[in-house]
Amino acid sequence: MHFYILTLFPEMINQIFHTSILGRAVQKGLLTMEAVNIRDYTADRHKKVDDYPYGGGAGMVIQAQPVYDAWKAVTDRLGPDCHPRTVYLTPQAGVFTQKMAKEFALEQHLILLCGHYEGIDERVLEEIVTDYVSIGDYVLTGGELPAMVMADAVARMVPGVLSNEQSGSMESLEGNLLEYPQYSRPEAWNGKKVPPVLLSGDHAKVDAWRREQSVLRTMQRRPDLMRTAELTDAEREKYL
Ligand code: SAM
Repeated sequence: MHFYILTLFPEMINQIFHTSILGRAVQKGLLTMEAVNIRDYTADRHKKVDDYPYGGGAGMVIQAQPVYDAWKAVTDRLGPDCHPRTVYLTPQAGVFTQKMAKEFALEQHLILLCGHYEGIDERVLEEIVTDYVSIGDYVLTGGELPAMVMADAVARMVPGVLSNEQSGSMESLEGNLLEYPQYSRPEAWNGKKVPPVLLSGDHAKVDAWRREQSVLRTMQRRPDLMRTAELTDAEREKYL
């Protein structure tokens, strides 16, 4: 899968695709990431990319021209038959979810557009954006962290990126449930013991315990998910 991140601050982006799991996936050729500097495409001879908002008000607005030309440089290279989804990261959108991460992971090419200052001229958004995505109901200074959050969540859903395919399918938010608690060595730490069932070697019992913990944890920490959680009839009767 190929990510193209349109930004005024490419140096912020580069890190995540060079380290750890995503770094290895890049080396294996499963992912590529290109940070495209919007400023490189400005027609302004002073390299300016923003201006005051019409109608007044605080802050600056990124102008349409450099954003459009940066986007066009990417899409022209991909050719006329490729119509990549273009996501504008913005607090003015529905909040990104694991379900959306899986859906975006099916794309071959994905363009992520990062705003800054007061945002981007609406006219170019109307022209190029296919999806508007927020990472949460708070306002950040720029779209770079949101783009990294989204790229990380999407990239790890690309087949082969996680070494064990299961670790992508048995974790929090699968079926709208949170994951069960995890433990590792030693068996006792700070006077606290690992739940005995996890040492029993009985896989059926371990699975049943984990499932129960998953449901209980979701009820306790994210009761809002319980309405849509994928529960068995027996669980529905017991917990709802
Ligand atoms: N004036 C804008 C508004 O009120 O909607 C906020 C602009 S914000 C200071 C600058 C940029 O940060 C936005 O254009 C967007 O790209 C990014 N951004 C800020 N918060 C975000 C969030 N919660 N999710 C995604 N992107 C966000």
